[in-house]
Amino acid sequence: MSKDRETIAAISTPLGEGAIGIVRVSGDRAFAIAKKVFRDSSGLHERELKPWGVRYGSIVDCETGEYIDEALAIAMPAPHSFTREDVVEFSCHGGVAVLTRVLEAVVKCGARLAEPGEFTKRAFLEGRIDLSQAEAVIDVIRAKTDSARRLALANLRGDLSSRVSRIRENVLLLLAHIEASIDFPDDDIGALEIEEMAELAQKSVSELNELVHLGRSSRVYRDGVSVVLAGRPNVGKSSLFNTLVGKKRAIVTDVPGTTRDVIDDWTTIRGMPVRLVDTAGIRRTQDPVERLGVEAANQQAEEADLVVAIIDGSCPICDEDRDMLLQMMDKPGVVAINKSDLKTEVHEDSLIPHAAGKKILRVSAKTGEGICELERTLAELAVAEITGVSENPVMVNLRQIEALEKAKHFMEEATQALGNRVAPDLTAIDIHEALFWLDQITGRSASEDLMEKIFSEFCIGK
Ligand code: GDP
Repeated sequence: MSKDRETIAAISTPLGEGAIGIVRVSGDRAFAIAKKVFRDSSGLHERELKPWGVRYGSIVDCETGEYIDEALAIAMPAPHSFTREDVVEFSCHGGVAVLTRVLEAVVKCGARLAEPGEFTKRAFLEGRIDLSQAEAVIDVIRAKTDSARRLALANLRGDLSSRVSRIRENVLLLLAHIEASIDFPDDDIGALEIEEMAELAQKSVSELNELVHLGRSSRVYRDGVSVVLAGRPNVGKSSLFNTLVGKKRAIVTDVPGTTRDVIDDWTTIRGMPVRLVDTAGIRRTQDPVERLGVEAANQQAEEADLVVAIIDGSCPICDEDRDMLLQMMDKPGVVAINKSDLKTEVHEDSLIPHAAGKKILRVSAKTGEGICELERTLAELAVAEITGVSENPVMVNLRQIEALEKAKHFMEEATQALGNRVAPDLTAIDIHEALFWLDQITGRSASEDLMEKIFSEFCIGK
């Protein structure tokens, strides 16, 4: 029996203590195995599991007859299951020992242990989903925010596939024209038609470009952005950090320079995962220990995607503030004048020359004033400044972006070749290359190695 046709089984829920744990079985022998290990409440082995019915009973060891656990069994006949094969799921008690024994019992009856992602791989190989949808399965599972979940789910339902398919259809149409001009060179292929072909190629380049841009913007939804809070000691970095993260973690004191280590935490700002970094404060110091903290702060500030440059509004701005603003000149972000609840000593006008075009906001970490506006600005910057795109993101991972870039490159070559009246058979080679890279996204041209790489990232049981 080929490896792919074997019936596979795995624990599909996380191993640990839980109310319920699920053992999933998929393949031609799934129902036969279920018949052996599952005994319904009347104690019978023979009763067929009803398709789509849920039956209460017990799991037994088919060799010793030992009672292993109570369970619910659900039978999902091919082709209307996740893998398009016969699938049985046993919902048991969610404990490590119980689930391991149930899995053992299933394996004793003829299933083999599934490899990571093997259920999803079968769904792909059986044509139920394409490769981009298979990858979306991991993204749905890993989504940490509601926006990431929404985008991943859109891909699971074929958003990226259908966008790529639309581009592919245009590329195929172009190829058909070009191949016709190779096969029938004497036919009336006039200059206008070549121009039309070049237009078609250029249209694909633009569509690919747009998809790459949209995809890059999804990075912020999937991976999040890092935002560093910069400012001299005592301006309120730790207080602002706590307000944004929503819990007390960084130490807040009146003694300047207390927060020596770089502290970071994940939070969500307007549906976007944000890694917030609180630093030791960027200030001139001779103290060697403090200098280490300052160096780490500078490093973090340099690596961050965005900065919130904080000024203490309750005292006049000083050289340290100006130094910090200068240092942050090239980084997108905002200037936040903190402590707006106190009498102000800092006016926006005096900051404009140092703000390098950054929006200047008044906030109070203490009262929460201006925090919503700060969050809104950060979310907008995260999408617009980093990616240059502000609407309709689509989830595209790095592998897919690389493939789109390659397809775009070959379509650009083809556009140029058409413009220069290069021999059509040479142009056709570029277009075949572009198609190859588009098919890498949906999996039409995916090699075993590529699939291995993708599915090995899955957990066992998915
Ligand atoms: P850091 O050194 O920049 O991290 O500053 P901290 O967050 O430790 O704050 C220094 C001092 O300023 C603490 O006493 C805070 O309570 C106070 N502080 C921070 N933000 C505000 C604010 O918005 N309003 C007022 N009145 N005090 C604040």
